[in-house]
Amino acid sequence: MPRDSFSHVTTWVFDLDNTLYPPHMRLFDQIERKMTAWVMTNLKVTEDRADHLRATYWRTYGTTLAGLMAEHDVDPMDYLTDVHDIDFSVLSPDDQLARRIARLPGRRIVFTNGDSVYASKVLAARGLSGVFDAVYGVEHADFRPKPEAAAFRSVFAKDGLTPTSAAMFEDDDRNLRVPHDWGMRCVHIAPERGEGDHIHHHSADLSEFLALLVDDSAA
Ligand SMILES: [Mg+2]
Repeated sequence: MPRDSFSHVTTWVFDLDNTLYPPHMRLFDQIERKMTAWVMTNLKVTEDRADHLRATYWRTYGTTLAGLMAEHDVDPMDYLTDVHDIDFSVLSPDDQLARRIARLPGRRIVFTNGDSVYASKVLAARGLSGVFDAVYGVEHADFRPKPEAAAFRSVFAKDGLTPTSAAMFEDDDRNLRVPHDWGMRCVHIAPERGEGDHIHHHSADLSEFLALLVDDSAA
């Protein structure tokens, strides 16, 4: 039973993008296009070159922003404000997901590589504003991104989180490596299961997985 594997969990950590909304809502696609446009404009490169640089930064530094900061000394808030200026109407509220998250016993937090202002807009559009105790963005991690250990260290220290009594839900399985190594229960939320022993559970649908963990009766 999945529920037994989570009986020790008192803090529930959720990634935001493509975890608290499904990829088919295509919000992150808008951000991807904004990031490419930002790189084209600010580094004065072609679209192909911008996409190549972004892929390289993602592999090497974890995110486009981390690469831009390391190699081009970019101001992170200027970048974050621009790439998150998107249309949130593609998101719809999910009352059932909200109810399931609210029934998880203990503390519930969001930890995103985006900024927390953006995260709040996503949560509002999904009807999830009221179910979390805290929302942490990359600015709370000194602009270090998941999957870096330093990012988790900063945010977990701020939250007072003990990894061995916490669980993490995340669509980018790279971001479960450190949590796994620190003793967290790791759930990969994605169409396809990632490879590696750092993934304890996989589901294509966050809400369906949470239904296994909580009393799911309507009320
Ligand atoms: Mg994500």
